[in-house]
Amino acid sequence: MAEQKRDYYEVLGVSKTASDSEIKSAYRKLAKKYHPDMNPGDAEAEKKFKEASEAYAVLSDADKRRQYDQFGHAAFENGGGGAGGFDFSGMDFGDIFGDIFGSFFGGGGGRASNGPMRGANLRAAVHITFEEAAFGCEKELEIVLKDECAACHGTGAKPGTSKRTCTKCGGKGRVMMSQQSLFGMVQNVTTCPDCQGTGEVIDTPCPDCNGTGYVARKKKISVSIPAGIDNGQSVRIREKGEPGRNGGPRGDLLVEVIVKNHPIFQRRDMDVYSSAPISFAQATLGGEVIIDTLDGKVSYEVKPGTQTDTTIRLRGKGIPSLRNRNVRGDQYVTLVVQVPTGLSKEAKEALRKFDELTGNTTVGGPKSVKAEKKKKGFADKIKDAIDDL
Ligand SMILES: [Zn+2]
Ligand SMILES: [Zn+2]
Repeated sequence: MAEQKRDYYEVLGVSKTASDSEIKSAYRKLAKKYHPDMNPGDAEAEKKFKEASEAYAVLSDADKRRQYDQFGHAAFENGGGGAGGFDFSGMDFGDIFGDIFGSFFGGGGGRASNGPMRGANLRAAVHITFEEAAFGCEKELEIVLKDECAACHGTGAKPGTSKRTCTKCGGKGRVMMSQQSLFGMVQNVTTCPDCQGTGEVIDTPCPDCNGTGYVARKKKISVSIPAGIDNGQSVRIREKGEPGRNGGPRGDLLVEVIVKNHPIFQRRDMDVYSSAPISFAQATLGGEVIIDTLDGKVSYEVKPGTQTDTTIRLRGKGIPSLRNRNVRGDQYVTLVVQVPTGLSKEAKEALRKFDELTGNTTVGGPKSVKAEKKKKGFADKIKDAIDDL
């Protein structure tokens, strides 16, 4: 074919004098890296995997390797393989894939499930208030936990009987499936359908646990939520997850913390943000305002002439650090000057007086605005007239 083929030795990254075991281990590395099961949907990886498999098919076979060394790719081009042309049908991938996937899934063992296996992690969520997140709390959770069945000691087989080794997979938990592909037959390793990968079959299930080996019970678990935790973070409780297999430890319980919104405070990292109203007189004259913080109400002295949206900082009134609860963030408070409404007659009179004294004229104001509008109206009419011409 038109596409230039790479040298097989180069593909595997070995020298021309490489031994069989060097070739095998080079291929094993590449096959692990590029296997389609490990790279779903990755066309480039699939190409690399096929390329390495083809190189291995040739170089691992003494006859084919000799031919290749002598004639290069031409050695196989006229052999009738057709497009892309390599015939894989004589290849035995079983051995090498058994090796590769054995060490992937079984933790090194040849059998599926005889070694101790850690149980899966469980997930749960707990809702807490803003203050509880800031200062920490204890929460009690009710979750369904599986425990080893007392009757069968977790085997799932009826007491007095035992499991037997799966005959379909010979206890390996995996079976080889042959599949026709573009470049010939490919062997894929899949989970054994008879034993679901456990390598063992139960003929008479334990009646107490229906053969699962576990019984589920609701349990109360207390969770210590540390001060400073933020929304979406999780607390890990060791060995409160799914039970392990064959004496393996339990998985962990991961409790996600969901923090309720606070009516006054918002949070960013360790800092708290809020706003506080101040009166027009307070903003103008300065004086004491009372501000809500996580520690309760505090008094703050506002400077005379404070403009609206001025932000002040209250040091150390933020959220404690998760690492050290004595270290705290700050609180930023935006002061919002309030425009008074619903004033009494006297107050309105005083305000008019104030306005006069400070040089503004509430009396002249509205009139001049009206005059401006009229003028604009007239100008617009003229403009429209010109446009119509
Ligand atoms: Zn049981
Ligand atoms: Zn099986």
